[in-house]
Amino acid sequence: MSESSTPATTPPVPSEGLVIVYTGGGKGKTTAALGAVFRAMGRGWKVAVVQFIKGKWRTGERIFAETLPGLTFLVMGHGFTWDSDDLSRDKRAAIDAWETSKELIASGNYPLVVLDEITYVVNYGFVDVEDVVAALASRPPHVSVLLTGRNAPEPIVALADVVTEMRSVKHPFEKGKKALLGIDF
Ligand code: ATP
Ligand code: MG
Repeated sequence: MSESSTPATTPPVPSEGLVIVYTGGGKGKTTAALGAVFRAMGRGWKVAVVQFIKGKWRTGERIFAETLPGLTFLVMGHGFTWDSDDLSRDKRAAIDAWETSKELIASGNYPLVVLDEITYVVNYGFVDVEDVVAALASRPPHVSVLLTGRNAPEPIVALADVVTEMRSVKHPFEKGKKALLGIDF
């Protein structure tokens, strides 16, 4: 959307946002976060999504995001961390994605910021958990931040307002089935 077509009135945003965590081993964390994006954008909010996975996969959400002017959608680095033997490059990519995320949060321009799969880069030690906690605690009060990924670090769980743990009851992966286009990516 060009600046000229930006509405003169800003959409309503509640004065207090939430820190929301979707964690656990079951399917649904990223897709639930994208549902929150759908809802927020319906309210006319600018939304930022940072995916802390490396960018070799063209996911459905990434393709669709390119068509949505109100959505800032950033994907860290290239390929998955666990495919790589070049850890220093991965660490650099994670730190860059996190530095950008901090700016997006602190700017106050995005009432919703999604940090998808951020738990991995924290659990790998690429990003300092106390730095994440500090950025969440000092965010503009109207900004909500939604974090996803397995094994959410305890300090983030302690600070969060909403923590939902997805529990797997069954998944086709257990029968050797591969990820399904349009459903899994
Ligand atoms: P989704 O993106 O589908 O919401 P997710 O974000 O909860 O899934 P991730 O840990 O990010 O799950 O893993 C993403 C990929 O792993 C997806 O292809 C998803 O189908 C698959 N997956 C998620 N949960 C499980 C599970 N319990 N067993 C096997 N594969 C899973
Ligand atoms: Mg996910």
